[in-house]
This record gives sequence, structure tokens and C-alpha cells, in this order.
Amino acid sequence: MNLVVPQSDPKAGYLTHQSEIDEAIRQTLDSGWYILGKQVAAFEQAFAAYVGVGNCVGVANGTDAIVLALRACGIGAGDAVVTVSHTAVATVAAIDLAGAEPLMVDIDPATFTISPQAIEDAIKNYRGSSKIKAIIAVHLYGHPAEMTAIGELARRYELKVVEDCAQAHGAKLGERRVGSIGDVAAFSFYPTKNLGALGDGGAVATNDAALAERLRLLREYGWRERYVSEIAGMNSRLDEVQAALLRVKLKYLDSENERRRQIAAAYDEGLKASGLVLPKCVGDISHVYHQYVVRSGERDVLKDRLREKGIGGLVHYPVPVHRQPAYRHRASAALPITEQAAREVLSLPMFPQLTDEQVAQVIQALL
Ligand SMILES: *Cc1c(COP(=O)(O)O)cnc(C)c1O
Repeated sequence: MNLVVPQSDPKAGYLTHQSEIDEAIRQTLDSGWYILGKQVAAFEQAFAAYVGVGNCVGVANGTDAIVLALRACGIGAGDAVVTVSHTAVATVAAIDLAGAEPLMVDIDPATFTISPQAIEDAIKNYRGSSKIKAIIAVHLYGHPAEMTAIGELARRYELKVVEDCAQAHGAKLGERRVGSIGDVAAFSFYPTKNLGALGDGGAVATNDAALAERLRLLREYGWRERYVSEIAGMNSRLDEVQAALLRVKLKYLDSENERRRQIAAAYDEGLKASGLVLPKCVGDISHVYHQYVVRSGERDVLKDRLREKGIGGLVHYPVPVHRQPAYRHRASAALPITEQAAREVLSLPMFPQLTDEQVAQVIQALL
């Protein structure tokens, strides 16, 4: 039987553009320069132009991108940052790594993104709300968060807005791409993301030139000039070989996201009578379907039955961050919508290389 795996093998993305990628990597090897050279600079410029911001800074991974974004905003010990629990653990881990306190709030049930009402409730109920310095909005599964309402709250309470774009490369809210809407944005190029490297990689995007300047210092020991640490930084660099590969893959991101939307449309149509709750696009958005997530009250049974039929489904995420041993001491408010999502969500196979036949096979199995 033809098995349908839940997510892409990163090698498939490489093989699709193999000769172009091989050439870019060979050029990098010939240059004899492996760290912060021409490839990273060229990728930063291309990615900034793609996102629609003035500055992009390549870093080692998406988690570091969030840590550095917070640190560049001056957020650290003694500060609190509002975000969700229904996300990759990296979002919350990054707040903790920056030395700040994560304040996890509930999500909107339709979009799985942070609830503006929950943000406001958290600010009002939090003792010492002056400690709250930022909101991290996660564009989960490729659906943009409610940035207009979040922006209004940020202005009212003088908070920075950090976008976690790790699952939403290329997604749009109106005519703007995610990553160009908040004060600063973090991207991951983990191999299975919509724009993925063959290893770790990340980037921070911002229109604020002074912030970008601090990010460049922070990612390499606080150096402007080699061996002179102006500020206390770290080592979090995107490497030349990954940047060379990402420059090639960036050219195909829009067409790959379009293929994801085509697959999503086929699932929408094929599954409308299935009784499953299907993902929605709320507002004037362009979704990039990092995941196509359905909900079912019998999720675990459904997942097992699908596996018997040779179809892989994944759960993003089975245990919310506020229930994880490392972070449960941070849990404050009850998060009923988050808890329900953790019980009900199932991610169907979704990646650009899926064939129409495989999509039909998934739909048949679910029906
Ligand atoms: C993948 C991911 C990250 C972290 O990226 P890494 O490159 O793996 O560190 C952060 N936030 C979200 C929502 C993610 O999906």
C-alpha cells in the first residue's frame, strides 16, 4: 500500500531543485568562507525584501530568533511577556531563556491564535502589570494572528509586539506579509518549515534600523569590530551553506505555498460532509497551511484508524506548554480552549510534494 506520510521529507525539497542548490553550495565552498559572508548577506537582503521590511538578521535557529528579538527590545529579567500555551514549546522557552516571565493566555477557537480578549484580561488581572513588556503573537499553522486588535492593545498598554512567524513564511494579512506588522519578527528555517534549510537556521526581521543594529551585535558577542565586545552578546549565526540553500528555496516559496492552498482547498471540499471541524480563514488573510488541522471529539481513535489505513497524522500539540513539567509552575489562568484543542486537533498530511492521488487517499480514509 502507498503510505502517506504526515510531513515532507526535507530531502524531497532538496531534490526538486537539486542542480541549483548544488551549484549554490559549490560556490560557497569555493569561496572558502563559511560564517557571515556573502551568502548570509545576500539571503538577508532577499528575505527582507520578500517579507517587506527594511532589515533581516540571520541567526542560528528560530528559538534564538525570539530570544534575540526580546533582548534587542531590552526585555529580560524582571519583565513579563504575554503569549500562548498552544504553540511549539520554543515560543515559551525563548521567553524563559531571555530571562523574562512567560504569561500564557488562551486562544481563539476558530484560528488557534492568541485571543486579544485574553491578553487584555491577563494584563488587568496580573499583579504588577507594569512588568508586562511585550506580546508574542504566534501565526500558528500558517494562519496570521489578529494583528489589528493586538496592535491596539500594544499601543494602549505600551507593549512591544513580537511576531513568531516560524510556521507562516509568506502568509499575508491584507496586503502585508506576516513579519512586517509587529515591531520585530522571528522566523525558523527548521527543515520541515514552509521555508526550510537542511539543518538549523533562523532570522529576525524588523523595520527598526536601530533594533537591527542591536541584533547584529547580539548575535556575535556584541561585536561591531572583531574582538571588541560593545555589549554582552552570544553566538547565534546563520551559516553560509544554509544561507546559500535558502536563497535558492526562497524563490520557490510562493509557488509551494500556493500548492499547499490547493491541497487545503481539496481537503475543504472533500471533507465538508465528514463531520470534522475544518480549519477556517478568518478575516482578509492568505493562509500558508504549515499544517492543515482538523478537530474531532474522537481524535485518538481517528488517528489510530488512519494509521491502519497507511496515513500518518500528527498532533500539534498533545500537551500544552503550561502542562509541561518544565513550565507548569508558570501556569496562571485556566486555559479551557487550549486544553480542548490539545484533545481534539489532528494535523493531516500537508506538504507541497503531496500528489492529488495521495490527497484523495487521505480524504477517502477519513470519510
Ligand atoms: C519551529 C518553531 C519555533 C522554533 O524554531 P527552531 O528553529 O526549531 O528553534 C518557534 N516557534 C514556533 C511556533 C515553531 O513552530
